[in-house]
This record gives sequence, structure tokens and C-alpha cells, in this order.
Amino acid sequence: MYWLLRQIKMLLGFSNQPTIKDIEVINPEVVQPEKQEVMSYPKFKQPTTQQLISKFGKPNETGKGYLTIIQLPYPMRLAWDKSVKVTRMSCHYLVAEAFEKVFKDLLDHYGYEEIVRLGIDLFGGCFNYRRMRNGTSWSTHAFAISVDLDPARNKLKETSKTARFARPEYKLMIDIFYKHGFINLGVEKNYDWMHFQYHKVFR
Ligand SMILES: [Zn+2]
Repeated sequence: MYWLLRQIKMLLGFSNQPTIKDIEVINPEVVQPEKQEVMSYPKFKQPTTQQLISKFGKPNETGKGYLTIIQLPYPMRLAWDKSVKVTRMSCHYLVAEAFEKVFKDLLDHYGYEEIVRLGIDLFGGCFNYRRMRNGTSWSTHAFAISVDLDPARNKLKETSKTARFARPEYKLMIDIFYKHGFINLGVEKNYDWMHFQYHKVFR
């Protein structure tokens, strides 16, 4: 009798095999990883000066010993003088490849016209030999591992209420930076939305 019932079930397309839905209920952790957001990261923690120095070396005024120049795949405009074209960028040699990938991905995904329309091409600086505002530790710009974009519309103290990069059309840009190992301070701290910082080595 049971055998007959099973045959009928099989003919009708049922079986005793658990379905995907059953597995989810019985063992949710098995299917969970696939459902996770691709851009899920542990909470950002600013590396200490010591950690930065141990990974990238001690910064100096001219960037001697660690700066390299990358060719940008599209021209950028200098944020404080838009008539000046920026075609190359100095950055730390250890993050050069990551930067190159970011800019290439931005071009591939947005296209040049859209990049200009959104102001993603407004270059606010990478290497800058200076201390942080608290005066004790080095800015990550001194190590040349961070870039600022469109600083006029993503000011240091602006939050997601007014900062441009908090708008939905910039989500893709932020995802691209994260994909290649950067964080955005706006996303992490809700200030300084202009600031993208290489962080992969500290995760
Ligand atoms: Zn910055």
C-alpha cells in the first residue's frame, strides 16, 4: 500500500526529497551565505598611525620611496579649478592597482558623460603630506592611500542629508570602491563623504 502511494506521488511529481524551501526552514545557515549582500563588511575601524606605518611605511613630504603615478582611464577635473585637467594621479605603489581597477570600473559602469554629469570626475586630491586635524596622527592622504572626490558637494561635516554621494545614483560608485578594498567615510561615519580610503589590509 505504502509502495503504491509512493508510486502515485512520484507520478504526480512529488517525492520525499526535501525541497529547497524545506532546507531553508530546517537549516537556515546552509542557504544564508548566498543571500547575503555582496557589500557586507565588518564595521570600519580607523587604523592607528602605527598600523598605517607598518603597512605603508613612514610618510614624508615628497612621498619619496612610495609614490607611483597611475594613468587615469578618463580625464578628471581639478575640483578647485575645473579648467585644469588631471590625467595622472600619484598614489602609494601598494594601492596603485586597486585605484586603477576602481577608475576603470567607474568608466565601464557609468560611462564618461555620466561620470561628468554626476561630478565623479571632480578630483579633490590623493597624496597630501599633512597631519590629521587633531594634530597627532598622519592623515591617510600622507600615505597616499585615499582619494577625495567632489569635495565642494561632499564637505567634511556634511551628513547624508545634504552630501551628494549619499544619493542613490552614487551607490554603484561606492560599491565599486568597496569591491576593490576601499571604504567611504560617509558610509562608515556619516561625514567626509568625499573621502575614499584603502582599507583592505586592515580588515
Ligand atoms: Zn580625504
